[in-house]
Amino acid sequence: HADTAMYRAKRAGGGHTYFQAHQDQRTLLEVERLAALHHALERDELRVYFQPVVHAENHAVVGHETLLRWARPSGLVSPLDFIPLAETSGLIVPIGRWVLWQAVEALRTRRVENVSVNVSAVEFRQPDYVAYLRELLNLGGVDPRRMWLELTESSLLEPHFASVLREVHALGVQTALDDFGTGYSSLTALATLPVQMLKIDRSFIMGIGDDTTAGQHALEVMRGIVTLANAYGLTTVAEGIETQVQADLLRQLGCSYLQGYLFGRPAPLP
Ligand code: C2E
Ligand code: MG
Ligand code: MG
Ligand code: MG
Repeated sequence: HADTAMYRAKRAGGGHTYFQAHQDQRTLLEVERLAALHHALERDELRVYFQPVVHAENHAVVGHETLLRWARPSGLVSPLDFIPLAETSGLIVPIGRWVLWQAVEALRTRRVENVSVNVSAVEFRQPDYVAYLRELLNLGGVDPRRMWLELTESSLLEPHFASVLREVHALGVQTALDDFGTGYSSLTALATLPVQMLKIDRSFIMGIGDDTTAGQHALEVMRGIVTLANAYGLTTVAEGIETQVQADLLRQLGCSYLQGYLFGRPAPLP
């Protein structure tokens, strides 16, 4: 077995501790996974799942978020387990372009009304990112207003991104700040960014609806976020809604859209 051989070779080299051998093994597993991920596109192993986003008032579906899956022969791999590797290796660039294309196809064929796509900073940093997006929407003959892009707080803080966001917005594509609340910046700081939508992280929703002091606090924190976001003219989306009680409370707080297992899990389009 390759990693045992490597382990032995290192040992023969002398002086290697268990820790280093363990590191080597980890590296080897990552190299294997990287090679496999490299072939995932050409082997047609990537899948785009779609999860509904609904209007808070009447629960009508307003759009879908695309969520990537990797269908390996050994089973379905979560994006949490391969997106970081895709980002550090740069493979996220071709993968992300494929996801965008799938999203445009879903729009073009009218299988979804609007679509929201996760974009990593590595992709957004590509000098031709906006040109690619524009061309894809043109080719599909799709109204850019039906496309939303989701970026996380850490990537949005890259200074040069403000101008890219404005270019994207000039196309008619809307942008969202994803996982709000998991980073370190204040909403006040972020509200100066040219984004139109705020997706509030599931960790804030989880405690809401609990009949405890913590549940009350969670609700008040959420009230603060939604009120401030609305004051800045941002559309708010609450992620990870699992109960009717949470859905009702967020509607009462004035949240615009809701997303979560209560309304539908991520799934392939029929
Ligand atoms: P995200 O963009 O914040 O996506 C929401 C995550 O919450 C998804 O996890 C979704 O399945 C999960 N979720 C939705 N509703 C519920 C709920 O009610 N309860 C619970 N427990 N979970 C819920 P998923 O699909 O595992 O994706 C994880 C993350 O991977 C995403 O977080 C996103 O950051 C990243 N990701 C997924 N697809 C892509 C992609 O195409 N490109 C990039 N760059 N990142 C992606
Ligand atoms: Mg997202
Ligand atoms: Mg999120
Ligand atoms: Mg996330």
